[in-house]
Amino acid sequence: MAEENGFLQSVEEAVRSRPQAPAYRAADGTTMAYGELWKLSDAIAAELAARTDDREPVVVLGHKAPLMVAGFLGCLKSGHAFVPVDTEMPAARLMDIVSQLGAPLLAATVPLPEALRGRVPAGRIVDVRAIASAPGTMRAPERSRWVTGEETQYLIFTSGSTGRPKGIEVSARNVACFMAWVRTFPVIAEGGRVFLDQPPYSFDLSEYEVVGALSTGGCLHAVSREETEDLRALFADLRSSGVEVWTSTPSFADLCLADKSFSQEMLPDARLFLFCGEALRHSTAAALRERFPRARIVNTYGPTESTVAVTYVEIGAAQLADARPLPVGTARPGTELFIVDPETGAPCAVGQTGEIVIVGDTVAKGYFRNPEKTAAAFFETRLSDGTPTRGYRTGDAGHLDESGMLYCDGRFDSLVKVNGFRIELEDVEENLGALPLVKQAAVVPVRRKERIVYLKACVVLQERPAGTDFEIGRLIKARLAERVPGYMVPRAVSLVGELPLTCNGKVDRKALAEA
Ligand code: AMP
Repeated sequence: MAEENGFLQSVEEAVRSRPQAPAYRAADGTTMAYGELWKLSDAIAAELAARTDDREPVVVLGHKAPLMVAGFLGCLKSGHAFVPVDTEMPAARLMDIVSQLGAPLLAATVPLPEALRGRVPAGRIVDVRAIASAPGTMRAPERSRWVTGEETQYLIFTSGSTGRPKGIEVSARNVACFMAWVRTFPVIAEGGRVFLDQPPYSFDLSEYEVVGALSTGGCLHAVSREETEDLRALFADLRSSGVEVWTSTPSFADLCLADKSFSQEMLPDARLFLFCGEALRHSTAAALRERFPRARIVNTYGPTESTVAVTYVEIGAAQLADARPLPVGTARPGTELFIVDPETGAPCAVGQTGEIVIVGDTVAKGYFRNPEKTAAAFFETRLSDGTPTRGYRTGDAGHLDESGMLYCDGRFDSLVKVNGFRIELEDVEENLGALPLVKQAAVVPVRRKERIVYLKACVVLQERPAGTDFEIGRLIKARLAERVPGYMVPRAVSLVGELPLTCNGKVDRKALAEA
């Protein structure tokens, strides 16, 4: 029998059993029930199928809204991978993604930004809001058209070291395997829970709640960007949210913990804090344990290239009593972890730091239309029981203890996490270097207590324009913000006469970071 789309099937089960149950609660308080979400995704799928017979990826543009999730389901039902793009993406970067995809259909859940009008042919734009307000009578495509097996379920573009976004192709099977694991998590396994839905859909962390909630009949409680930037509004919303499962980066939890009122009293139903994406620090976990005595705190680890996360550990008193950095967990069923010498690939001994290699059924297909980069990081292999599978060299430094518990020890390259956002320093440097004002640029992370607090750009100017250093720095940041998302724009710009070099001729990042 042909393989089905496990995720769509699970959502369909929730639709059948409780069509009136809420699937999505938007920041404006409106809710969408499972039955309605399914019907809307049928209408979107019908429209996409009427536009094209191909099975090429479709860009879904917008922010936190039920239309986005309906758009994802609609793509899958009509045989297309979805490419989630957040409205925060500058037009130039979005056009780069569009050009990498060829001439994709663009399902817009928001009015098209001014800068895109005329640049994406009108015939390639699908107006999701119009479909939602007048769904029409076209029938949804047959199930045989659904995305299945090794076909790409979603394509997420992350920061790429060449200065252009890099697409990671995650298959329907990868998602089904990830889903099967997430559904076993405490609290989530009960079904019908309320999930915080905070990270933008363009980050794979959001798949935790999209897959976790919708495959178990749960409800996504969306938090808008405006709320994220205004704690008072966010907290007012959280008080009435009924959130039971919290998924975010530790940075977002830290932001909330900075206010004493963020506690079990505000979220009486919170029972699971699920973290991924960057180091979870003792101070964050300890504060959560104190303020949320009824909740479990879970650390998980994984890159987008292995479908959200592949490890799991509950952080309790024993972990917090240990002064070492917190563990990131043991491997999920279906995943095997290895630590190897990053130069030779030789296995490392227990306790020794090397490169983390992930092997198993959630390792993605590779980088979109980039066989070279794919071959450099992904490989065909077998699990220890002989099952053929894929492996991925993460570039993360880490070690395993005797019990198979994984610890992260940093990176072997210049990928950094700032407030949970994945950024290749070269990506920022390339985009700075492309500004007419800039002759040369280096970007370095500024750390406080081992944690990256912001990025600093050291810039050699082509020719000095009028203005103080501060004004020129501000101008550079404004120009850069036209090319990369806001979270990639360094907070500090330092104008320098030249970039210091190490003895082997490379930019001396250490010296710049310390300057
Ligand atoms: P992303 O693809 O955005 O999910 O970023 C993946 C990277 O985030 C990994 O390769 C790690 O460098 C880092 N990361 C993810 N989870 C953790 C964790 N629990 N602790 C430390 N670093 C993490």
